[in-house]
Parts: sequence; structure tokens; C-alpha cells
Amino acid sequence: MLTTYAQFAIGVVDLAAAILFLYGLQRMSSPVTAPSGIKVAGIGMAVAVVASFLYIFSVDDAAKPFLVMNIALALIALAIGGGIAWVAGKRVAMTAMPQMVAIYNGLGGGAAGAIAAVELYGSKTHGLTQLGVTLLGALIGAVSLSGSLIAWGKLDGILNHPLRFKGQRWVNALIVLATLVIGGGILFLASGGAIAQVGVAGMITTFFVLALILGIALTLPIGGADMPVVISVYNAFTGLAVGLEGFVLQNPALMIAGMVVGAAGMLLTLLMAQAMNRSIANVLFTNFGDAPAQKQGAIEGELKPTQAGDAGIAMRYAAKVIIIPGYGLAVAQGQQKLYEFVKLLQAGGVDVKFAIHPVAGRMPGQMDVLLAEAGVPYDMIFQLEDINADFATTDIALVIGANDVVNPAARSDKTSPIFGMPILNADKAKQVFVVKRGEGKGYAGIVNTLFYGDNCNMVYGDAQAVLIKMIEAVRGLGLPAAA
Ligand code: NDP
Repeated sequence: MLTTYAQFAIGVVDLAAAILFLYGLQRMSSPVTAPSGIKVAGIGMAVAVVASFLYIFSVDDAAKPFLVMNIALALIALAIGGGIAWVAGKRVAMTAMPQMVAIYNGLGGGAAGAIAAVELYGSKTHGLTQLGVTLLGALIGAVSLSGSLIAWGKLDGILNHPLRFKGQRWVNALIVLATLVIGGGILFLASGGAIAQVGVAGMITTFFVLALILGIALTLPIGGADMPVVISVYNAFTGLAVGLEGFVLQNPALMIAGMVVGAAGMLLTLLMAQAMNRSIANVLFTNFGDAPAQKQGAIEGELKPTQAGDAGIAMRYAAKVIIIPGYGLAVAQGQQKLYEFVKLLQAGGVDVKFAIHPVAGRMPGQMDVLLAEAGVPYDMIFQLEDINADFATTDIALVIGANDVVNPAARSDKTSPIFGMPILNADKAKQVFVVKRGEGKGYAGIVNTLFYGDNCNMVYGDAQAVLIKMIEAVRGLGLPAAA
């Protein structure tokens, strides 16, 4: 009797967890509600973990001692994993977030693969459909695990160069084929009964090893700069693998969480590719950003350096300023100083707005998070489509640590690798100041014609150091705040 009640209770708790995941995700659709959305989804995860401990009440007494040992092991694993994640989460730098996402995503894929391994080796899976789904989840989860780890290595600079050789695609195709043949073999041999009876443990091991090699082989040739998109693809894979294993276990929380992650990962991949004006195949199979220096026609104009203080003072006397943050701002960790400078301008009556490009930085939403971290109110932050028309009536555009997202070549140069990518129209402002350390290129590795425009001046230096000088210069004016 207790068993039936316990099973019912587990179902209810699982469903509650699934509802919390969905509600949390819905709240993540706006930056204002996103922080609480993350907390709600986190509570959902805690509820789902509690539900899995309730299983002890749903088994008969003979199996309980075994489960007690499992629970003890799970608690130890939770303490170790949770402890490491807590410390890492507290310490991670904003610019290292993509690496962290890569690792956690890989571990999610690995967890799905581990569930599949328990099912397969333990011959718990019966019926061809269930076995097929388990194998598919195992394949996708294992590919996601090893692929994400390679992506992490590339983002962290441990694996510096893409590994490419002649005939690589054929080798990869062969690995895919071998994995599918072994998977098909397992299905065939197991069609007569539970797989342990037909002794296919060796084949299962080979299947997992091949799937792990496949993840490595698919990721190694892709350039490090494309890793955020690759991670997003693997994120979709992990979600799918978790959802499939949720189906095998008939666990609604896993199924819903997996499918939500899978769909979100796929959508994110599509949006990132669209915002870069590239197809997903182009990201996965070409060497964008690694190409030798692009041949560019003679660039008219010259780079015109100016002092940080002069630029700061010019902005203090402007009526309307739009700020375009980019990857370099995150590198310099200049967000706090930037907002301090903005508050000074606002105190002087300057109308200041932030313009965010969808792929500014190295991770979707990175700039929004960076500005939120500094306390910039959301109503000052505008997305590309909402602000682009404003540049024509703006006195000064301050481009700080951004490059590709303001490159007019995307509009006019058909030979440019970023041709067609929507950009922020900073060049339309009356005056442009660009803050960067030197003549380093952006992610796409191309020259930016904006920097050579008549209306543009370069302020060289680390973004944070430049902002400190701007703040000093404006304070030095000793002007009273606007009424
Ligand atoms: P970019 O990478 O185009 O340019 C960043 C610029 O910042 C560089 O030119 C660099 O110049 C400068 N910089 C670096 N460090 C500092 C520093 N400490 N202080 C001041 N400046 C610094 O960045 P954007 O944000 O403009 O564009 C993002 C690019 O990344 C796009 O091409 C996008 O497609 C791509 N991408 C974005 C993803 C996303 O999800 N957001 C994912 C994958 C790719 P210098 O060395 O001279 O200082």
C-alpha cells in the first residue's frame, strides 16, 4: 500500500519540478524577471533531486538495503559536485563564462550517457523501442560530453589550434558508420530478450567509446572562435539526450527538462547563426576567423587618435550619447567604471543610452549581464532593432571594446565574411569615439572601416583605464549637476 502511495507521491513531486522548470524558463524571457526565473528553475531542480530520493519508499523491503547504500553514494556525490560548482560559480570571471557553460553542458550529456549505461549494462531495458531510445540517448549524450570538453579546452586556450587533415570528413563519416553498425548490432542481438542474456556488454563498451571519439573528432577541426555556437549545438544535444533517457525511465521531470533544454539550445543556435548571418553548417564545417588576413581594398582615411580626457569632456557637453559595449569591455572588466562615467554624464543632463548587438561579446546576452552586474537600469539598455534609427540624431557614439558589431563592411562589402550581418549604425552618429587597446582585430579578423571615418577618433588603452581617465577629466571640470 505504501508503495502505491509512494509512487503517486513521486509522480506528483516530479510534476511539480517540471512545472517549476517551465515557469522559471518563462521568467527568463525578460532581463527584469530572469534572476527570479533562475531561482525558480533551481528550486525545480532541488525538488526533482528530492523526488529521486523518494524512490526508496516505492520499492519492497528486500531492495531497501541496496538503495540505502546508493543514496549514501548519491549524497556524497551531491556534496562533492555541489561544493565544486558553488566555489567555481563564485569565482568565475565574466569572460570565462563560456568555458563554464561548456563544462556543465558536457557533464549534463555525460549524466544522460551514464543513465543509459546503467540501463544497458544492467539489462534493465526491454523492448526494441526502449532499447533504441536508450542507445540514441547514449550516443547523443556521449558525443555531447566529449565534444563539450574539447570546446572547453579550446575556449580556455589549452587546445590552441584546430586539428585538420586531408580526408577528415571521410574519417568522421566512418566513425559515425561504425557507431551506427555497433548500435544496430546491439539492437539486433537483443531483439530476442534482455541484453545481458545475449552477452553484448563488449559491444556496448565499444559503442560508448566510438561515440566519445565521435564527439572529439567532430569538434577538433572547428576554430576556437566558433566554440560558443558549437556549445549551443551541444547544449541542444544534451537536452535531447536527457529527454530521451527521461522517456526510458518514464520520469516526467527529466523528459520535460530535457526537451526544454534541447529546444532552447536549438533556438539559441539558430538565433546566433542568424545574428552572424551564417548557416549552422557554415559554423560547423568552415574555418571562419582562422583564415589568413583578409585581402581588403585600400582603406580610405586614417586612424585619428585622441586623448581619453578630451573624449570624456566632449561627451559631457553633448546632448545625446549612445554607448556600444563589446567583448573588450568584458575583458577589461570596465563595466563598473563605465556606469560611474555614465552617471556623471546624466548628472550633467546628457541623454545616455546603451545599444546592445545580439552577438556582442562571446556569449549570447553577455553584455546585458555585464551591464546588469554594474547596476545599469534596464530601461537604459536597447536592442539593435530598437535603437538603430537613433544614431542619425545622436551627437556621440562611444564604441567601447566592440569592433565587428559596428563594422560598416557588413552593409557594403560583399567580399567581407560578415557581409549581411546586421550591425549597430554607430557610423551615422555625428562623432564616434572608439576605445580599444591598439589595432587588434575583432573576432572576424577583419579591418573595421568605421575607425577610418572622418567622424571617428580612436582612444587607445585598456577600457577600464580609459574610463578612469574620462571620469577624472569630467570631474576636473567641476561643473555643477544639471537642474
Ligand atoms: P570583437 O571581438 O569584434 O572586438 C573586440 C575588440 O575589443 C577588439 O577589437 C579588441 O581590440 C578590443 N579589446 C580587447 N580587449 C580590450 C580591452 N581590455 N580594452 C579595450 N578594448 C579591448 O567584439 P564585438 O563584441 O564587437 O563582436 C563580437 C564578435 O564575436 C562578433 O563577430 C560575433 O559574431 C562573435 N561571436 C559572438 C558570440 C556571442 O554569442 N556573443 C558567439 C560567437 C562569436 P584591441 O585588441 O585593439 O584592444
